[in-house]
Amino acid sequence: MGSFSLRWRILIETIALIATVATGTLLWGPTGTIAAGVLATIIVLFRSLGLIREFSDLTEDVVRMTSIDRTHRLNPAGPAELARLARAVNRLVDRVGADIAKEESERFRLSSIFNSMKDGVVVVDDQGIIESVNPAAGEMLGAVVPVEPGMQLTSLTNHPDVIGVVTSAIQSGNPESTEIELFDNQGTLAALATPFPRPDTKMVRALLLLTDLTGVRRLDTTRREFVSNASHELRTPLSGIRASAETLQLSGIDDMAGRKQFLEMILEDVNRMDKLITEMLELSRLESGESQLDLQDVAPSVLTDAAVLQFSTIIEQSDLTLESSIYPDLPVVRVDVEKMSHVFANLISNAIKWTPPGGTITIKTWLDEKSVHFSVADTGQGIDPEHLPHVFERFFKTDSARSQPGTGLGLSIARHVIEAHGGGISAASDLGIGSKFVFRIPVAE
Ligand code: ADP
Repeated sequence: MGSFSLRWRILIETIALIATVATGTLLWGPTGTIAAGVLATIIVLFRSLGLIREFSDLTEDVVRMTSIDRTHRLNPAGPAELARLARAVNRLVDRVGADIAKEESERFRLSSIFNSMKDGVVVVDDQGIIESVNPAAGEMLGAVVPVEPGMQLTSLTNHPDVIGVVTSAIQSGNPESTEIELFDNQGTLAALATPFPRPDTKMVRALLLLTDLTGVRRLDTTRREFVSNASHELRTPLSGIRASAETLQLSGIDDMAGRKQFLEMILEDVNRMDKLITEMLELSRLESGESQLDLQDVAPSVLTDAAVLQFSTIIEQSDLTLESSIYPDLPVVRVDVEKMSHVFANLISNAIKWTPPGGTITIKTWLDEKSVHFSVADTGQGIDPEHLPHVFERFFKTDSARSQPGTGLGLSIARHVIEAHGGGISAASDLGIGSKFVFRIPVAE
């Protein structure tokens, strides 16, 4: 009976009841009519109760499916109308479920983008209440507590320029932008506040976009400093050449001794300029990654022996002692021998320059984990702790070094060469006692 439609079921059951009553009347007269009528009433009552149960089961199922278990589906049983209804509800729930899943995945995609953006995004209403905020905004503005929608903008930052750009965008109704210098020189941000209305109310809110300009500004400053330092360093020998040439032109041309001296001075300045330009080009090649390393496997002692040999004469002439303590049987390192010899040359010539006669320069090598360490130490005048962190910066010279020959590029080049080999370099110094430069090169695999 389950697949019969209700209409047919009622028709058939009515005919069956009439037939029952008629049969009772025919067989037993009025008593039969009453008995058959009572029987028929009981049957109708049971059938109605069954139908009510089927309806209420279906209702329960719908409630369960829509509010408790979204995976549950209705059983298309019972009368054909109820089965059709169950199938239709199942289809509807499937479609709604698919739409919800699609929307949820889209929302997840958008929120992943929003949360992983490098730029900071904040949506603020005209009461200064945050509607949306991504983690980058909190990090960029140095928020001390985790910031969430519903909080005041001031809990994200109390920087007047941030608050100012948002307020003026909301008040003017036009996009406003500004550059924000963070407190304590923590960096520079570009802030763009764009007003947009809320569709449901007359309120205006602003979308604040924060972009970190710190790297760009730093690069800008570095570039400016480089041009200014390079020009200054080139101008010094150039002024020397001009002064010598002018003196020669004015009076020294006939004075043989003076002429020789001025020509030597010119040559010295030309060499200084040549060295500076060579080092600047080398540094620029290293920084841009254009400088190729000609790598070969060598024993560390090959590098130190060559350095000791190269400087032995000048060490003797400067009344210094060169000691070397080379750890035996060190594993080979894969290096560009020529570039490494420049690194040693820079470190040893610096040590010679800054160590008074009678002092000692010590070269050491040792193995630590997977790297060979090299050190060049001196008993010279040392480096002021204030200057020590800057010695690897290009063009850096301490005050006392300014009057001395030297480009201020040597250590910067050394650092790039060592880093290009996958190593690192550091400096330690005690003022008046001496300095020590240590670098490490990974052991060849
Ligand atoms: P420079 O061409 O001036 O030697 P470097 O980059 O090699 O340039 O060194 C940068 C600065 O670091 C030097 O000008 C000097 O002030 C300081 N310095 C480097 N090595 C030593 C050292 N061994 N002792 C004292 N000061 C040093």
